Amino acid sequence: MNTRRDFLQKMGASALMLKLGSVAAFANVPDPIEPPYKGKVLRVAIMGLGGYGNRVAEAMKACTKAKLVGVISGTPSKIKDWQTKYNIPEKNCYNYENFDQVKNNPDIDAIYVITPNALHHNQVIRAAKAGKHVICEKPMALNAKEGQEMVDACKKANVMLLVGYRMHFEPRTLEVIRMRNAGEFGKVMFFQGLCGFKAGDPNQWRLNKALAGGGSMMDIGIYALNGARYMVGEEPIWVTAQETKTDPVKFKDGVDETIQFQLGFPSGAVASCLSSYNINHLDRFFVSGDKGFAEMQPSTGYGPIRGRTHKGELTQPITTHQTVQMDEMAAIIFEDHKPVVAVNGEEGLKDLKIIDAIYQAAKTGKKVELSA
Ligand code: NAD
Repeated sequence: MNTRRDFLQKMGASALMLKLGSVAAFANVPDPIEPPYKGKVLRVAIMGLGGYGNRVAEAMKACTKAKLVGVISGTPSKIKDWQTKYNIPEKNCYNYENFDQVKNNPDIDAIYVITPNALHHNQVIRAAKAGKHVICEKPMALNAKEGQEMVDACKKANVMLLVGYRMHFEPRTLEVIRMRNAGEFGKVMFFQGLCGFKAGDPNQWRLNKALAGGGSMMDIGIYALNGARYMVGEEPIWVTAQETKTDPVKFKDGVDETIQFQLGFPSGAVASCLSSYNINHLDRFFVSGDKGFAEMQPSTGYGPIRGRTHKGELTQPITTHQTVQMDEMAAIIFEDHKPVVAVNGEEGLKDLKIIDAIYQAAKTGKKVELSA
């Protein structure tokens, strides 16, 4: 995978990363020589040092505006490893019991929660009460009720809540959104989102309802749902859904193996989506309007994202998603930067409300209307 540093070397335009809002500019900018960044750096502690936490930490090495400075983990040996690897001082290391003490630590600005889904609610609220900004992985919580409580807690504590929607900063995705906004597809009438993979180890937390909150829909189907919203550019007003289970031993009660869901939008556009833990090579978006189309495959994996529109191949720069995400989140927090597609708690809550409705529709077999 190309690193951000590779990209910057090739492009010679560090300023580009900070201007993702303007993707047209992003693709074809002359090559301005920017002075090194001298602004405020977001000092982040990562909570949950697992697979994705490691990926984020590695990607953050190339950040300009964000820096990994602390860890929160239940495993002392992991803390030691990370201290060595990322030069993290002892005073910035916490466990799940004592991390509320981070409120007395002026050297940490934000906590990035990267633990199993069921833990996000409590951990985000505790981080907010400690007066720290919070970045939380998707899905933000197990349901809309929890999500609302998290949004309220962060508001009350006067801290920002952001959700790790890395695709919202991905240049090729943003180019398709730009084209849609510019009317280049004409009236958008259809979106298809296919997201899934074969889940391996039957004992992983992702297949445990208590920790995951559900199955494929919570983990990977959320990309198709979120993608439907940012590709169509509207909020759905109804959902229908159907669940298929071929392996009830591996995918127990409340852990969905495969869900197909459909969304209806105010303009009349519809979306047809597939979420699965038992089908490989599902990573594809297709959006169709009366004047053009875009198709992306892979569409939400770690990259490189590939795709084409009726005008040709998407050629915007390939980035390391988590590096750009963290620099952009720092700009959102400290510079009031407004991303093209929101990544705040309210955005996470919108997905949770629709996921609640998808599960309800799958269970009842009925169309579920969504309130605005
Ligand atoms: P993982 O299993 O690799 O890591 C989870 C970490 O949480 C581990 O370090 C584990 O020790 C710790 N943990 C703390 N309490 C735990 C408990 N009670 N049970 C199990 N583990 C516990 O999982 P992951 O893939 O890193 O996923 C973590 C979060 O990140 C999830 O919410 C997931 O949806 C999200 N994620 C997001 C992306 C993305 O692209 N945005 C990718 C992968 C995962």
